[in-house]
Amino acid sequence: MKRVLITGGAGFLGSHLCDRFIKEGFHVIAMDNLITGDLKNIEHLFKLPNFEFYHHDVSKFIHVPGELDYILHFASPASPIDYLKIPIQTLKVGSLGIHNCLGLARVKNARVLIASTSEVYGDPLVHPQTEEYWGNVNPVGPRGVYDEAKRFQEAMTMAYHTYHGVETRIVRIFNTYGPRMRLNDGRVLPAFIGQALRGEDLTMFGDGSQTRAFCYVDDLVEGIYRLLLSDYAQPVNIGNPDEITIKEFGEEIIKLTGTSQKLISLPLPTDDPKQRKPDITKAKAILGWEPKVSRAEGLKITYEYFKSLSQEDLHRLAH
Ligand code: NAD
Ligand code: UDP
Repeated sequence: MKRVLITGGAGFLGSHLCDRFIKEGFHVIAMDNLITGDLKNIEHLFKLPNFEFYHHDVSKFIHVPGELDYILHFASPASPIDYLKIPIQTLKVGSLGIHNCLGLARVKNARVLIASTSEVYGDPLVHPQTEEYWGNVNPVGPRGVYDEAKRFQEAMTMAYHTYHGVETRIVRIFNTYGPRMRLNDGRVLPAFIGQALRGEDLTMFGDGSQTRAFCYVDDLVEGIYRLLLSDYAQPVNIGNPDEITIKEFGEEIIKLTGTSQKLISLPLPTDDPKQRKPDITKAKAILGWEPKVSRAEGLKITYEYFKSLSQEDLHRLAH
């Protein structure tokens, strides 16, 4: 049985990856310090003999007994309000955390896949973003702690690949959504749906003309799985190129939820990227991958998930 370590395994994406690797017959070790994650996301796996959970901060030395075939480094705060609240931990998990994972990979002779992000492109001057674009990041702006940690993480990963011959893969993930997102993580989808469910107005930042392109989580997981098993070590964008303005997105959520609330405008956060859309030519050519779930289908499934939360959670996780 192949053995995989998934850091950030109790988070939104990490928990979906745990599910996928269990389904594929792996022995899965999830490692998480629960700083933004939740054990509820993986509690259904606890009874399985091929699943283990380690409560550990990956910015500290990592010890895993036995063999490892793969390491997926997904630990990191991921939403702007999270990484603004815990900026130093964000920098540490992207630097010390990946160093520990790569060191572990050398000892175990394991392949490492890192969760990079469209944020390495910053507020992009090239549209849509191809992997060749070097980005437009403000290192000392509020988002710098996340963006630069991820850029450093890519550089460290490439260095281990080049100088130590470690097998590495880099996925640049674009905005992904689905069940198990935290209602109060500040990202636009849980913010809007949570507000609609509580009967509050939807808080659009700026005039809503900024764009994003949202990928359903199952599509992302499929792309990651294919990349891990491929022999391609350069970064690959995985995302859904179906671009939409935040204003239009808000209108879609209003229609989906049937709320009588409206969109209200709040100030745009500093350095908020004006546009974002992945160029997925590489993923198509190298992995034979493209997204299958439309935004209409994905939003419906995600809305059902948020609707199933208790009223208590809905209000406890309001902000
Ligand atoms: P998340 O906050 O739900 O999950 C992150 C997990 O990492 C949490 O469970 C958290 O407790 C854990 N964690 C954080 N620091 C840790 C540490 N030092 N040691 C151990 N565990 C730690 O966020 P997510 O959306 O699931 O994101 C997962 C990864 O994917 C992140 O690396 C993020 O940067 C990347 N990513 C996500 C998106 C997206 O749209 N969701 C986009 C781009 C990149
Ligand atoms: N946004 C918004 N209202 C919210 C939360 C976010 O209008 O309550 C906007 C935000 O300014 C950004 C877009 O939605 O332009 C996506 O934000 P998110 O935090 O989800 O992701 P990121 O900016 O990291 O792509």
